[in-house]
Amino acid sequence: MIKAVVFDCDGVLVDSERINNEVFARLATRAGVPTTFEQSVARHMGRSTVECVAELAAELGRPLDFDLPTEYEHEVLARQHEGLVAVDGVRDLLDLLRAAGVPVCVASSGTPREIAFRLGRTGLDGYFGEHCYSASMVSRGKPEPDLFLLAAAGIGVDPAACVLIEDSPYGVRGGRAAGMTVVGYAALASPEVLRGAGADHVVAAMAQVPPLLGLG
Ligand SMILES: [Mg+2]
Repeated sequence: MIKAVVFDCDGVLVDSERINNEVFARLATRAGVPTTFEQSVARHMGRSTVECVAELAAELGRPLDFDLPTEYEHEVLARQHEGLVAVDGVRDLLDLLRAAGVPVCVASSGTPREIAFRLGRTGLDGYFGEHCYSASMVSRGKPEPDLFLLAAAGIGVDPAACVLIEDSPYGVRGGRAAGMTVVGYAALASPEVLRGAGADHVVAAMAQVPPLLGLG
């Protein structure tokens, strides 16, 4: 029996991943690691910026010569001020869960500031209250299970009774490692990639989620 639903933020609640990956690809290239949008989606989407930067530094064999995480956050927030929207159908899903009394929370690789901005900007903040968990609160981000275990503990639900909705292979792997049932939302990552990462179900639209939860 499903007792709670855990939502990734970027690409699942808010339609932010195109901007995120455009900005990250450009900054990684500027740092000396040529990166296309598609490479950013494959390698970095769903992970914390700090961990991605550590990987770039390892590849370069030296620290980056500018503060990429700070520039990334600044530029992404500036661009998302103009046109950030909720993912299609996710508000209906949240309303359905609220009506059914199913607890929800957010588990995101973004910083607390990024999460608060994106949920506030799209009017989704009211669904989650204090239950927004950031990779900055744990020592190991996705694809490790730490963030998802923290989120489950925060809402007081056994991870095995949680369904996680994720759009990146790193997030899918982290959720599975935490013992959650994982629904992959295929947008920028393909259904094959999400299944390969271990997703129990893959959907192309949020309207396909309620039946998987035994709702609607
Ligand atoms: Mg995501």
